[in-house]
Amino acid sequence: MTQTIKPAHPSKLSQMSLCPGSMKAQEGFPSQTSEAAESGNRVHDALRAVMEWANEGRENSLVTIVKHFGLSDRERRVYRFILHEVMSILSEHLGPTTYECEQPFSLTHNGTEIISGIRDFVVKCGDGTIHVVEYKTGRIEVEAADLNLQIAGYVVPIMLQKSDSPTEVFGHLIQASWDAEEKHSIVRYGIEDAENAYREILDIVAKANDDEALRIPGQKQCRFCQARGTAVCPESTDLVESLPDLIDQPVLRSPEIAPERVGDLMKVQTLLQASMSPERRSRVLRACLTADVISKKLKEEAKEILKEDAGAIPGFKLVDGSKTKSVDDIEPAFEMLQNIGFTGDEYQACLKFSLSRAVHILHSKMKADGMTQAGAKKMIETTLEELINVETNEPSLRYVGE
Ligand code: SF4
Repeated sequence: MTQTIKPAHPSKLSQMSLCPGSMKAQEGFPSQTSEAAESGNRVHDALRAVMEWANEGRENSLVTIVKHFGLSDRERRVYRFILHEVMSILSEHLGPTTYECEQPFSLTHNGTEIISGIRDFVVKCGDGTIHVVEYKTGRIEVEAADLNLQIAGYVVPIMLQKSDSPTEVFGHLIQASWDAEEKHSIVRYGIEDAENAYREILDIVAKANDDEALRIPGQKQCRFCQARGTAVCPESTDLVESLPDLIDQPVLRSPEIAPERVGDLMKVQTLLQASMSPERRSRVLRACLTADVISKKLKEEAKEILKEDAGAIPGFKLVDGSKTKSVDDIEPAFEMLQNIGFTGDEYQACLKFSLSRAVHILHSKMKADGMTQAGAKKMIETTLEELINVETNEPSLRYVGE
């Protein structure tokens, strides 16, 4: 390691491990915010306040916190879920003796800072255990605590860089994503685990600081990379551009396909299916998933460019968005349709009952009496239990690693 190392944020370690060039590629981009990031900040502020206000003797009830930070219904649910999990940790380990909320920290190597950031919550409990807790408020699931490099980056400095270092620390990852398989995952670090993690982090940071660091596109690493689809990362745009070749070429080159059959699309498609080995299908699918996240950004940018200059991108133009038509006033609508022969049954067949709308209405009416969104959902579903049809959507596709 040299003195020119640029410290990384622990949340970037996973991206850097998959694409070492991502750190340098994103240098110089202005910091971005998004609705999701601002929503996450509000929940984090509320979670910090609930701890600090208790210390200061200030009133910190749910109603006060929600009002003070202007939390939306979703943010309130996320806040309550995370707080509940934190309280479970505290009660299981005999309460807090000392704790820190959102304190900056860094990890050094030979006097050089290699990572720096802010930990959400670190607590030493009455039974002597130490817990590092990371809150994830977004909708996208992240790796569980035992595989999570961000947690490793938080734990290692506590275990290896203090004179009175503990020999055991628990890392907790609490994620409010409704799709997450493990919403609260826990990892126990002993000294050997911390030393291994330290070596892994050093290796990731060293590779990322190399002037020749490779840029390796992939769905996970590109999703939140500011360089995706820009000239700074030609690898990401090349991948999108080369996707048709990746899918077609091996089939067209396949010796068992006579050249005159190549023009027959149906046959090529059938052969494509038949000739795709599981490994190749996996490769193609991974390229498609990566291309999805890159092309999403490219399409958004293209729309903005075409709004400014309709002829800026050869072969493309903006077309009007599709229109959704609906009728709110259903009584006069029925009278009008009767005039053209609709019966009551036929009219009813056109109406669709919205469960989510019913939950929203009940929740709005009963909120002042303390009814939660989840409570309203439960009441509606219990009341209509006999009438509710449950349909399961098609399974979705997810890359889970090999
Ligand atoms: S867009 Fe993807 S490949 Fe390019 S630097 Fe970012 S993470 Fe790496």
